[in-house]
Amino acid sequence: MIPTEISVEFFPPQSPAGFEKLRAERAKLAVLKPAFFSVTYGAGGSTRERTFDVIQEIAAEGHNAAPHLSCVGSSRADIRDILQRYQDKGIKRIVALRGDLPSGMAEAGELRHANELVEFIRHETGDWFRIEVAAYPEWHPQAKSPKDDLEAFARKVRAGADSAITQYFYNPDAYFHFVDHARALGVDVPIFPGIMPIISFAKLARFSEVSGTEIPRWMRRKFESFYDDTDSIRAFGLEVVTELCERLLGGGAPGLHFYSMNQSALTLEICRRLGVLPGQA
Ligand code: FAD
Repeated sequence: MIPTEISVEFFPPQSPAGFEKLRAERAKLAVLKPAFFSVTYGAGGSTRERTFDVIQEIAAEGHNAAPHLSCVGSSRADIRDILQRYQDKGIKRIVALRGDLPSGMAEAGELRHANELVEFIRHETGDWFRIEVAAYPEWHPQAKSPKDDLEAFARKVRAGADSAITQYFYNPDAYFHFVDHARALGVDVPIFPGIMPIISFAKLARFSEVSGTEIPRWMRRKFESFYDDTDSIRAFGLEVVTELCERLLGGGAPGLHFYSMNQSALTLEICRRLGVLPGQA
């Protein structure tokens, strides 16, 4: 087995049936013995209670649970209250983000950027939480320049983050370039690549427009040639994402963070192919 740290991300379901399905998927993913399961947070607090509920369940099942928390649209008092609730439940890890303002929401909130949120968490709770922050190997879509974005990343690590998780990407060179330049700025925390298994190419293409992720031309053309042949899309997606993970781990990535989209099958299959399932040779 390749020694590596796996973590898996979920979003909070909208319905009791969604919660039930997520429980079943989580039970399957538990075989990976993940370092933590994380749960996203709707900016402005839109999923506040549902994120909290899923986190509570994960912790009760005996896993490390990491809630995401974004500061946009929230006051310091709101954030203080959420941190206190997580501390009361014994949650020790948090993913600290700025978030994006949902359309129609005018109030930016009291903390403007993730570095201010990290500072606030440290000020309020000391070393209680292990803090993860976001990193963008292909640069954040709103960044003024790659240099500014890298400096913003270094700033939030200096504010007290313990490690980082990247936006998903399909070009491993972008990750290695980002890590090298972060190291040159003195950032020495682990930077975990975020891995998006490919379920639907059409959805991935739309989502990547927003997130600023490049889908390399050779991949795009091949996916497009499959039209709606879902078996071929799944097979090719598994092949390219497994190869990406192999290159990342081979090049020194400390582990993998899977954007599971609340589904276990592809994440498990990629880990099986990588030989990172406990018990595999
Ligand atoms: P920041 O680090 O604040 O950066 C945002 C932008 O501002 C960047 O362009 C940066 O260069 C710039 N910047 C940073 N600091 C400064 C400064 N001091 N002055 C001027 N410019 C600055 N979104 C959610 O809503 N909920 C989630 O649960 C969630 N989970 C995520 C998990 C991961 C691993 C990742 C990679 C992203 C996630 N996101 C989530 C998306 C994220 O909230 C958005 O990408 C958001 O636009 C930026 O958040 P950030 O924490 O990276 O912001």
